[in-house]
Amino acid sequence: MSSCLFCQIIAKKIPSQIVYEDDQLVAFKDINPVAPTHILLIPRKHLSGLNEVTDADRDLLGYIQIQAARLAQQAGIAENGYRLVTNCGVEGGQTSEHLHYHLLGGRSMQWPPG
Ligand code: 5GP
Ligand code: ZN
Repeated sequence: MSSCLFCQIIAKKIPSQIVYEDDQLVAFKDINPVAPTHILLIPRKHLSGLNEVTDADRDLLGYIQIQAARLAQQAGIAENGYRLVTNCGVEGGQTSEHLHYHLLGGRSMQWPPG
């Protein structure tokens, strides 16, 4: 989707600090980190958010979680713990209309989230 910011990051039309990519997903540093480690994982397939996923995306969604856990290991945050979160819709706090997961770590998280 040419109008989508994250699709443009995938296409490398907009620069980002990519930490991992393969045929299914791209992971890059958030431009406005809220934790010492703040990586966004996005599928190459444009999905606007969790509201749009179907059973056809089951493998993709599972794969994103597996890669998030691997990236957490590589970033050195697995042992102390981390948070993987996706915001959905207005009340969920979603601002980018391309499905993405925040991998957050390097500090203690609060619960409940704001
Ligand atoms: P959301 O609020 O939709 O859950 O998360 C969107 C995230 O995308 C935010 O954390 C924001 O900082 C990040 N973001 C927005 N624009 C850009 C950009 O151009 N580059 C990068 N690397 N991150 C971005
Ligand atoms: Zn997109």
